[in-house]
Amino acid sequence: MTTSPLFYQAGPAMPEVSHGHGVFLWDTDGKEYLDGCSGAISCNLGHGREDLRDAMLAQLDRVAFTYRTQFENAPAVALAEALVEMTEGALEKVFFVSSGSEAVESALKLARQYFVARGEARRRHFVSLRPSYHGSTLGALGVTGYQPLEAPFADITAGSLKVPGPDFYRQRDGDRDAHVRRVLEETREKIEAAGGETVIAIVLEPVGGASTGARLVDQAYLEGLRALCDEFGCLLIFDEVLCGIGRTGTWFAYQQWGVTPDLLITAKGLGAGYYPVGALLAREAIVETVMAGGGFQHGHTYAGNPLACATGLAAIEAIRREGLLENVRARGEQLRHGLEALQARHDWIGDVRGLGLLWGVELVMDPVAKTPFPAEANLFARVTALAKEEGLLIYPRRTLNGLCGDHFLVSPPFTINEHEVEQLLERLARALDRLDREVA
Ligand code: PLP
Repeated sequence: MTTSPLFYQAGPAMPEVSHGHGVFLWDTDGKEYLDGCSGAISCNLGHGREDLRDAMLAQLDRVAFTYRTQFENAPAVALAEALVEMTEGALEKVFFVSSGSEAVESALKLARQYFVARGEARRRHFVSLRPSYHGSTLGALGVTGYQPLEAPFADITAGSLKVPGPDFYRQRDGDRDAHVRRVLEETREKIEAAGGETVIAIVLEPVGGASTGARLVDQAYLEGLRALCDEFGCLLIFDEVLCGIGRTGTWFAYQQWGVTPDLLITAKGLGAGYYPVGALLAREAIVETVMAGGGFQHGHTYAGNPLACATGLAAIEAIRREGLLENVRARGEQLRHGLEALQARHDWIGDVRGLGLLWGVELVMDPVAKTPFPAEANLFARVTALAKEEGLLIYPRRTLNGLCGDHFLVSPPFTINEHEVEQLLERLARALDRLDREVA
């Protein structure tokens, strides 16, 4: 018998939140938590910000909601212009939504409609990675490669052609370049087996989120994917719902490798946790083709409403004004050093990987063979619970059969200062010392 009518997850009862300020949250018993994962890697500017509150209140005083096909609204146009500028003009068109899953759905449907408008309706396959996470609605779940989430719905989603992405921790191909070549070769084989002319797009996260614990791509891999897309005439879609909007130290993660997609998806940090807003960015030629064919047959009621866009705009302005991309890079380096020091202390920390303020820590039973702990050990849940007891929030994921061990993300708000990173690492160290006594 539960006391709450909510049913988000199985598991122990949660504390009730009281309030938040900066990188800290407090529950109604007065316990303090350092938000080491920005909620769900979304509250990127920390809690209780007056500038965001003021921007939202100012917009509320004017108008909260207008429907996207009845009125143009200034915050939506300004936010779209800001996003285009953040891609350095590489993607010129913007379509607003309210969540990451909606943004993924929009990208998949725009890509399909583009080819229908071009008389290429035979294109019906998406290619995506395993593991990966692209959202919880049925279309986004179809391109997701995360078995525990897929399993109950496998028969009723459209699915996708699943290929491995680069895994520089477990790769056994000799060197990194050979590994990338093999992964690209497997991708090519899958596309050819399906018939290259039937593929709509390749979809991936440039920096993996929760499903892979911040696994990285590299330049050769992205260039290889771009070349495959150009060869087979399909689109390249980057899902930056989690890793975009400054999280890795550049506005978008893909900019660190200089390979531009045709469609780009972002959400989470765009509204900084203050209001839901997501966006699909597209090359103009794609949008023009779809518009010439009668318009995009898609949309959500709350998309691009003035309050959402005013919030997003205020968040981007705050990142610019406070030089937070620089802070992400500097504090990211501090975090990397600290996490690597913890790895040196515990041989069951197999890998520490990431960029900017997006770090994944993977736990393994055997550091040489890189064997994950058995799934029944539920190590991801245990480490999260211990961290929470120590006053630290981290973002966990369970082990995936043969693909990835239990892992967690450390991804604090961009505003975190040097002393707070130290506090984060101290609390994590205490949690890991306690875990050490349990796994020994
Ligand atoms: N894509 C990626 C890479 C994500 O990390 C997520 C959420 O975690 C989504 C899509 C789905 O976003 P939302 O939960 O806002 O629907």
